[in-house]
Amino acid sequence: MKSKTHGEFHQKHSLGQNFIEDEALLERLAELSLVTQEDCVLEIGPGFGTLTKPLARRAKQVVSLEIDKTLIPILRVALEHCPNARIVCGDAMKIDLAALVHESFGEGASLRVAANLPYYITTDVLVKLLTELPQAKSIAVMIQKEVGDKLLSAPGDEGYGPLALMSQYTCRVRRALDVPAACFHPVPKVDSSFMVLERRSAPPFPVEDEALLLKLIKAAFAMRRKTLVNNLVSGFRLSREEASACLEAARIDGKARAQEIDLEAFCRLAGQLSHTARQS
Ligand code: SAM
Repeated sequence: MKSKTHGEFHQKHSLGQNFIEDEALLERLAELSLVTQEDCVLEIGPGFGTLTKPLARRAKQVVSLEIDKTLIPILRVALEHCPNARIVCGDAMKIDLAALVHESFGEGASLRVAANLPYYITTDVLVKLLTELPQAKSIAVMIQKEVGDKLLSAPGDEGYGPLALMSQYTCRVRRALDVPAACFHPVPKVDSSFMVLERRSAPPFPVEDEALLLKLIKAAFAMRRKTLVNNLVSGFRLSREEASACLEAARIDGKARAQEIDLEAFCRLAGQLSHTARQS
């Protein structure tokens, strides 16, 4: 790609490089990211730093993690007037995000995440952000519209699964803006949504063992065609009778499949499984 401002740069489709250049849109995205002067921001994939700049204007500090080495010198120039922005070259999927945030912002910083994500890692990076950075007050991300639908999905909806349950358990999820494909350069095949996940101060349905809830959700969706009772038998090494008893105690139909069960029922079932584990 040859750009007026960035000279000869070879755009890498494999790295999900679809850039945003519209300054009004970038300003709006930074505003929707809820960043204030008290906040330290982790940005994934700064590209040419076009979103980094409005984020840095609002934030106390910004750390932007970019995998593409060829963008680093371009970013250094683009961000030379943003003394509170630091660029780190690395892979968001491999790096220890908790350590990066701690080393960059120190203990107890008010953390927010903002990104126009590379779409080849959307789901994995969202799961990583939710699990590794529970202290993040919000995660504001540009993602495929279809994945945005998934995040908001309910039982029976197409795409309802572990990502929706995990996001909704930990965060209030909102579609802040729909962004047509034409707003990106090069133009991707799909439209996008800017989604804002605000961390809840407490889960909507308290669960004593959250690791077990997570294990349950994964096991329940391991084989979507199987009934919940069968997935419980294989995922938790329970007898069929024990699995059925847990479901009954949690007021869930024994023939139900995971995609028919809402978050509250999953939380009740996690409670029953903890109870059963304590008794055996
Ligand atoms: N923020 C810029 C913008 O809005 O124009 C660029 C967004 S572009 C959709 C995604 C960016 O993420 C690219 O700069 C790409 O090189 C970078 N990227 C891709 N994979 C990455 C990874 N695993 N870790 C960190 N950055 C990555």
